[in-house]
This record gives sequence, structure tokens and C-alpha cells, in this order.
Amino acid sequence: MTLPFFPPDLFDEDRAELLDIVRRVGLAAEQKFILGDQTARFEAAIRDSVDAADAIACGSGTSALTLVLRAMGVGDGDEVIVPAFGCAPLAAAPASLGATPVFADIDPRSMVVDPDTVARLVTSRTKVIMPAHMFSVMADMPALRRITSGAGVRLLEDSAVAQGGTLAGTPAGRWGDAGVYSFVQVKTFGMPGEGGMVVTDDPELASAVRMLRNHGQDGKNRFLYHRVGYNSRFDEIMAAFQLHRFPGLPGRLARRARIGEYYTERFADLAGCGVLAPPPAKDGRCYYVYSLLAERRDELRAHLAARGIGSHVYYPAPLPRQPAFARYTRPSDTWPAADLAARRTLAIPIYPHLTDEQVERIADAVCEFAKES
Ligand SMILES: *Cc1c(COP(=O)(O)O)cnc(C)c1O
Repeated sequence: MTLPFFPPDLFDEDRAELLDIVRRVGLAAEQKFILGDQTARFEAAIRDSVDAADAIACGSGTSALTLVLRAMGVGDGDEVIVPAFGCAPLAAAPASLGATPVFADIDPRSMVVDPDTVARLVTSRTKVIMPAHMFSVMADMPALRRITSGAGVRLLEDSAVAQGGTLAGTPAGRWGDAGVYSFVQVKTFGMPGEGGMVVTDDPELASAVRMLRNHGQDGKNRFLYHRVGYNSRFDEIMAAFQLHRFPGLPGRLARRARIGEYYTERFADLAGCGVLAPPPAKDGRCYYVYSLLAERRDELRAHLAARGIGSHVYYPAPLPRQPAFARYTRPSDTWPAADLAARRTLAIPIYPHLTDEQVERIADAVCEFAKES
């Protein structure tokens, strides 16, 4: 039996409810399909779950990042420090506003941005530091917070993959001046569609994001545009579906954590055989993706595939090596840890409905590979 990396049955248990929601929203008298009561209730649920002053639902995690950067005043000539290893929105969001993404190298083991490198990259043009939690480890938010408070720089916490994680008692998304979650299918609170959420205690940021997500309108005066905005609104069917799924999220996250902790235990002694697991810890973990660092990554991938186990490479190249973002770098810049991670990283399945037997089979296959070599 094969174990795909991306399971095709993520929403099977909720299929009847999804169809019912489509009927309910679709047949309701008010015919409201975006930014209605369901969205408002979903915002309140997320806001209260992390004890934030406000939560604003947006069209995607990417656009949530862009809206917060705009609300923070980022534009031409500004610099935004982002991780050199991660996904496109980290660089594209600042670039889309005319700002320069400045790429900071990562910690070679945890693969999150290295705070010492970030501190060295701060200049008089730095407007925002935008770390991202990666795979299963939260970024070093206390260290990053110290850098931004000393420098008068704002902190935007990309928690797209870390909703439900906590570090030193503070939830992911709540360390920054604003935090962002993503609900795209593959994320831990994914849904069958596109969506994101901004959480913040800052009323000015909140109202700016609220305005920007709907063409610069204030929610009261229709067709009065205070600012050049965006279309980044939230879908009522998705909001109702997420409200239905929200009570189950802690259980699914706990199951992911159990699987992740089991892997880390099983792989603890493989470092000498060229397979490195994430650093063990309970605090500051968010099990979105379980990424190993393997010296012979492609061979490990083939070994798993031969045993019917899917795996995935996040990410095959650092952001500053991408054609789209190379123009934001200087020839003397280097990111050795990000380069190494791109060559070695391999993610194995960790979705919550894996059975114990399946998890064991995956761990066995990795151990077998490491010990045979
Ligand atoms: C997924 C992701 C995003 C973007 O979220 P979308 O909802 O897909 O736009 C941003 N940052 C990180 C770190 C992500 O993993």
C-alpha cells in the first residue's frame, strides 16, 4: 500500500458537512458569499483562540502578508529582511510593494532564519523584519523581537504554517506586531480553497488591513475609496467550513506532534549515518512538515519511493538563487546554510490520519536506509 506525501482524503470526514454548507449558504435569503456573518464569526473564533485584539480574514496568506506590509507603510526604497530559505511570498510580498527583500541565512539545523545574521543586515532603510516559522520549528522570536525593538523596526510574523504552535507560552502569530496564518489546503488548518488571516493587537494596523482587503473601503460607505486597495476578501462557504473544523484542530495538531516526536526519537542516532532530524523539543514546535536533512537526499527519496512512501523537497533552491529574486542580491552575498539545506532537505509524511503502523513503516524505512549506508 502506498503512502502518498499529499493525502487525497484530507476532507473525507467533512464532505457531508461541506455539501450541506454549500446548500445552506447557497440557498440563504441574503445571498451573501463573501465577508458576511460566517467570516465575522470565523474571525472572532481565531481572534479569541490566540487572545488577539483583532483578526482580519484575507484572500490568502500571501495577500495577508502583502496587506500588513502595506499597512506598515512599506514601499519604494524600503528594506524588508526575510529568510533566504522559504517560499516565494516571503520575497514577493515586499517586492510587489517596490521594497527590497534582504535575504538572511538560516540556522543550518532548524532551517529557520538566524537572528545574528538578521541583526547584521539591519540598516537605516530596514522597515520590517519578517521571519517565518518553517516545517516543524518556530523561528527564534524572542531574539528577533529584541532586534526590532532596539532598532525601531516592525516585526511581521509569518505563521502561515504554525497556527496552534506556541513558544515560551506565546502562540505563533502573537510575537509580531502582526501575525499571518494561511488556510490553503496543505497547511495544518488547510481548507478546500484559498484564505488567510491577520492577527494583531494594533488597532491602526487592523483597520488599515481591513480597508486594504476590500478596495480601500471603510465597511460603511460603499464606493468611497480611502486608499488604493486590493481584492483580498474571504469566502462565506469556506468560513462556515473552517468554523465546523476548528474544534477538531487541537486534536489534529496533537496527533501531528505525536508523530513528529516519534520520528525524532527514532532518528536520534542517525546523525552519524548522514540523516539529521530536527532538534528535539516540545516548546516552539509546529508540525506542518517533517523535514530531514540527508547527505544523500535523492537516494533516500528513491529508497522511500521504492517502498511506496511519498516524500517532498521543501525547497529545492534558496529564494535569492531564484531567477525572480536574484536581482535583489549583491554578488558578494552568500547563504551557505540555505544552499546546504536546499541540497539536503527531504520531508516525509506527517498528516494526522496516518495510523501508528504507517508511521512506524515510514520510520523503519528511513532507519533502514541510514543504517545500510
Ligand atoms: C503557505 C505559505 C505562505 C502563503 O500562504 P498562501 O495562503 O498559500 O498564500 C506564506 N508563507 C509561508 C511560510 C507559507 O508556508
